[in-house]
Amino acid sequence: GTWPETIPAAAKAAAERWPDRIGLIEGEERWTYAQLWADARACASAMLAQDVGNGDRIGIWAPNCRAWIITALGAHIAGAAIVPMNTRFKGQEAADILRRSHAKLVFTPKEFLGTDYQALLAGEELPDLRELIHIDSGFNAFVARGKGADDPAVDEALARLSGDDVSDIIFTSGTTGRPKGVLTTHRQVVQTFGDWAVRVDLREGDNHLIVNPFFHAFGYKAGWVACLIRGATIIPMAVFDGAEMIRQIEVNRVNFLPGPPTIYVTLLHELAINPAHDFSSLRGAPTGAAPVAPALVERMRNELGITNVVNGYGMTECGVISMTRQGDDAETIAYTCGYPMPGMEVRCVDEDGRDMPPGQAGEFWVRGPSVMKGYLDDPQATAEAIDADGWLHTGDIGTIDARGYLAITDRKKDMFISGGFNCYPAEIEKLLAAHPAIESVAVIGIPDDRMGEVGKAFVVLRPGSEADEAGIIRWARENMANYKVPRKVALVDALPRNAGGKVLRDALRELEA
Ligand code: ATP
Ligand code: MG
Repeated sequence: GTWPETIPAAAKAAAERWPDRIGLIEGEERWTYAQLWADARACASAMLAQDVGNGDRIGIWAPNCRAWIITALGAHIAGAAIVPMNTRFKGQEAADILRRSHAKLVFTPKEFLGTDYQALLAGEELPDLRELIHIDSGFNAFVARGKGADDPAVDEALARLSGDDVSDIIFTSGTTGRPKGVLTTHRQVVQTFGDWAVRVDLREGDNHLIVNPFFHAFGYKAGWVACLIRGATIIPMAVFDGAEMIRQIEVNRVNFLPGPPTIYVTLLHELAINPAHDFSSLRGAPTGAAPVAPALVERMRNELGITNVVNGYGMTECGVISMTRQGDDAETIAYTCGYPMPGMEVRCVDEDGRDMPPGQAGEFWVRGPSVMKGYLDDPQATAEAIDADGWLHTGDIGTIDARGYLAITDRKKDMFISGGFNCYPAEIEKLLAAHPAIESVAVIGIPDDRMGEVGKAFVVLRPGSEADEAGIIRWARENMANYKVPRKVALVDALPRNAGGKVLRDALRELEA
C-alpha cells in the first residue's frame, strides 16, 4: 500500500479520519484519536521549548503506557529520534546506551515494579543528558512547559519533518556481542509496518492488546504505530499478567493479540478450567520468538477461535523479513517463519555468496526498503553488515524451501563443525530439550584434537529431577545423529541470559576459554 511519510503523519491522518474513534484504552480511561494527536502536539511544543530539534535523541526507558507513545510522537514531531530502552536493564546497561546515543532528555518512571529508575542512573556519567523526566509523576508538568497543542512552532516542525529523518535508534539485543544502535527512518517504519499490518490482517476498528514491550521494534512499530496506520485501538499492557490479559480480552473485546507462544498456552489452560470464558473476539495472533508446535497452532485455531495465527522472522536491522500467510497450514506456521515481505528480496547463500538449492542451509541475505540506514557511529560495522550491492548479511543460517518459505536453523556465529559436519547449537538444544530431566540447555562448540570441534552442553535440570553427565550423553546417542551428540555436559544452576531472556552463548564460550 501507500503509507504516510512519517509516524506523526500517520497519527495526524488517524485524527483527521477518525477523530472520535477510541484510539487508546488505559485502565478505565479512553482517548480518541483527536485527543491523542492534540496531546502529541502539546508534548512536541514542550520538547521544542526545551530546544529539542532535528538530530537530537530522546531516551525512553519505561513500560508500555500512553505517555510512552505521547513522548515518542512529541519527539518525532520535534525532529528527534527516540532511543527506547529495555526496562530490565540495570543502570550500567542503560547508561552505556544513553552515552552512546548522546540522549538529551530521558523519560523514566519514578516507580515501576518497586524500582526507581533515576536511582539506577545515579553515579553514572552522562555528559549529554540535560534532564531526566518522570514519565509517570512528572509528565503533565513537563508538557505544561510548552505552549500547548496550538503552538505554531509545532506546525513549523511538522513542515520540516521528512520520511528520511531518523525516527529511532533501537539497540540490538546483544546476543552475539555488544548491542549495536540501529538507525531507522520514518519512511521505513511506516512502510514496513503498514505492510506488516496488511499481511497479518490488522483491521480498522480492531482492539489490539499490546503485550510485547515498546522497547522492541515489535511492540512499538508492529504495536502502536501499526494501530495508528490502520485505525485500530491501542491497549498497552505494562506488566504481563495472565489474569489481567484475560480481563482485557473479555472487557475490551480484544481482536488482535501478538505475543510469545506461552500466552496462548495460558489462555487454553484458563479456558479448560473455566469454559465460561469468552475469547470469541480474538482473531489475530502473530507469534514467534520461540518454537511453536503444530498442535498449539491447531488448538489456537480450534479452541480459541484465532483464525489468523502467524509466525515471522525479523531483526532490529530490517524490521520484518518474512511472515506466514493467511491460510497456511499448521506445519508451515510451526516450522517456517514465512514468506518474504513485499519489496524484500531474500537469498540463502554459501560462504562465497552463491545461492543454495532449496532446502539446503546457508546464510540469509536481505535487501529492500526496510534495511536500516546503518549502525550508530560505526561505519565499519555498517560496511560489514551491508555489502556494496545493498545486501544485509543477517548472520542467520537457514533454508528456503521450494515454495519460497524461510526457516531459521541457527546463527552463523554459533555454528561449529565437528568431523566435517555443520552443527547448529539451536537444533541440538531443541533435541536435548526433549530429555525429561532437562529444563533448559545451551550448546557451544569447543576445540577437539580429533574432530576439530565438538559440542558441549550446559544443562539446567528440572527441580527435583535427577540426571548426570554420562546419562545425558547416553540419552543423546540414542536420540540424535552421532556428530550432534555433545561430547561434554556440564550441569549448571542457570544459563547466562541478556535482558531480553536470550541465552548468551558468547558468555559460555568465554567461561570455557
Ligand atoms: P545482537 O544482534 O546484538 O547479537 P540479536 O540479533 O538477538 O542481538 P535482535 O535484532 O533483537 O537482536 O534479534 C534478531 C535475531 O533474532 C535474528 O537475527 C534471529 O537470529 C533471531 N530471530 C528472529 N526471528 C526469529 C524466529 N522466528 N526464529 C528464530 N530466531 C529468530
Ligand atoms: Mg543481531
